[in-house]
Amino acid sequence: MQCDEVDLKILQALLNDGRASLRQIAERTSLTTPTVSSRLTRMLKSGTIKKFVPILSSDSVHGGIAALVTLKMESSYAQKIAEKLAGLREVDSVYMTTGESITIKVSLESVQELKSFLAVNIPKKGVKVTSSQIIIGTLKEELPSLIPKELTMNLRCDFCDGPITSRRPHTIGSGHSRYYFCCKTCKKDYLIEHGGKIPA
Ligand SMILES: [Zn+2]
Repeated sequence: MQCDEVDLKILQALLNDGRASLRQIAERTSLTTPTVSSRLTRMLKSGTIKKFVPILSSDSVHGGIAALVTLKMESSYAQKIAEKLAGLREVDSVYMTTGESITIKVSLESVQELKSFLAVNIPKKGVKVTSSQIIIGTLKEELPSLIPKELTMNLRCDFCDGPITSRRPHTIGSGHSRYYFCCKTCKKDYLIEHGGKIPA
C-alpha cells in the first residue's frame, strides 16, 4: 500500500515539528484531528514511522569518539556482514556502497575501544578495513527531511498477516487499538475468534 497525499501531509508536518500535537497537526494540514490520529496510528503500526526520538546536538555530547570505518569484501558477504553490524548498539549507521564496500559510523568510548571493536566485530576472513577515521568535527548531521514522492506502508492483516493492498483497509477499533484486515472475511473471522470483543 502506498502512502497517499494525506499521509504525506501529516509526515511533512511531523518532520517540521515532531512534537506537534494531533490538534496542531490537524490545523497545519487542514485535516480533522480524528483523521490525523487514525493515519498516524496506521503509519506507526506499519512501521513507516519507526519511532519518535530527540535528536541530540553533537556539540552537547561530550566524551567518547565517533568514527567512520570503511570495509571492503566480496559482494557475497556484504549483505550478511552489513546486517550483523546494523544490529550492534555501537553502530549508528551502515551504508552499503559501490565497490563492494560498507561504510559504518560507530560511537565508542575511546580510540582504544575502536581497535577492540574492530577486532571483535569484523570477520578476519574475506573482509578488509580499508579506512577508519575518527570524526573530529561535525558541521551537519540531520535525518533527511524531504519526503520521497512514493512511500510504501507495509501494513499487514491482523488476522492472516497478509499484505494489505487497499487504500481503505477493513478496520475495527479506534485510535491506538485499531486493527487492520486485508478483506471482509479476515475481519469477520477475527471477530469470531475474539468472541466479538476487540482486545485493547
Ligand atoms: Zn487477512
